[in-house]
Amino acid sequence: MFLFSYGSKTYAKEYVVVIDPGHGGDNLGGFTDQYTEKYLTMETALAMKERLEMYEGVKVILTHDDTESPDISRKDRVEIASRNNADYFFSIHYNMSVDHDLYGTEAWTSAIGDCYSKGQAFGKLWTEEFASKYDLFNRGVKIRLSDKDGTDYYGIIKYATKAGIPAVILEHCHMDHYRDIEVLQQEDITVDFGITDADAVAEFLGLHSDILGIDFSGSNVVFPESPDSYLKPDADPPSVNDISVSYEDDEYAILDIYAKDDSYVQYYAVSTDGGETFSYLNPWNSDPESLETEDTDLIEITVPKTDKEQNIIVRVYDAYDHTLDSDPIKLGAICQADAGDDTAKSSDSGSGTKSDNVDGYSNANGTNGDSDLNDEDGYRNVDVHPDKDGILIFAMIVIIVTVIMLIAIVFIYINRSKGSDNDKT
Ligand SMILES: [Zn+2]
Repeated sequence: MFLFSYGSKTYAKEYVVVIDPGHGGDNLGGFTDQYTEKYLTMETALAMKERLEMYEGVKVILTHDDTESPDISRKDRVEIASRNNADYFFSIHYNMSVDHDLYGTEAWTSAIGDCYSKGQAFGKLWTEEFASKYDLFNRGVKIRLSDKDGTDYYGIIKYATKAGIPAVILEHCHMDHYRDIEVLQQEDITVDFGITDADAVAEFLGLHSDILGIDFSGSNVVFPESPDSYLKPDADPPSVNDISVSYEDDEYAILDIYAKDDSYVQYYAVSTDGGETFSYLNPWNSDPESLETEDTDLIEITVPKTDKEQNIIVRVYDAYDHTLDSDPIKLGAICQADAGDDTAKSSDSGSGTKSDNVDGYSNANGTNGDSDLNDEDGYRNVDVHPDKDGILIFAMIVIIVTVIMLIAIVFIYINRSKGSDNDKT
């Protein structure tokens, strides 16, 4: 450690921060019809560098600054950091999932010693601030070991840890999920992300900026304990996933889902057809602060009844996307007693087919996933609002009853006048 002066102030240390725009050259990273990762990472990394350089007491180095120059190996990227005696290495990425079903922000760090402690401390600060700022789902800070020995799985982290440099992979959001694309579509968002990343680094390092008028010198970062050797990531699926009906009437049922995992439960999905198809993933609990606490084991969801019996299975996902399915629960159909009634049948098939109901269900899930993000009690509802079908059926029943009553009145009237005619003959 050494002292140096900047203007009138003296700082304890000049930090060296390496920013690594993930991918480059032929290595595009992930890509969709809309996005190519290497371009997004470069936009974010350049903005992050520019912003971070507005703080005093930090030297910022990019591993590369041209998306079209040949790709640099992970080893060489870390070599740049080593040569410059980097204090931290931040690798900028955008995510995708195999089944295109995952969404949210996550960070990866070393599982080993001091690099674990420092990486996790930054990862926690960054994921929480980043996800909450952009209303993205916080997938947390994770570690992954290679299968062979106690070394880190991801090359960047593995080489950096060997060089004694704490490295963090910043997976900003998923380019292939509409929830995250909603954010990604905002104008200049990749630049905005870079600014947020830089501010998170500045806060983490306790930096100060005269130009920006920001002072993080009093910031208080919590460092988890460094493991003696390395930590193992959660390799098991959730241990418990019990579902039960806590309330039921003619229109809907409330299910309690009780699930437990060594790390934490992250998402849940609901099947109404015995596991053939599932709703998309709902956040289990949107409050990152409570992700690791005990009182989030239980959530409650509302499942609307349909004209068919439903075979409900709930699938829960842990932090590492391992899943566990519940045992199935059968939910009776709406208006079972009227099933033999021709009128009810015809109005049902006319306005509320099975597939309509399935759509209605997933839509309800979707609306819910978003609107419930700030639920104070942390419970999630799969709530279905009265749909058009229900209103139509009700209107038809009213009309049919009215018509039957009118016919009856006319019938009685005709019979009476017939009766009086008979009297006359
Ligand atoms: Zn990447």
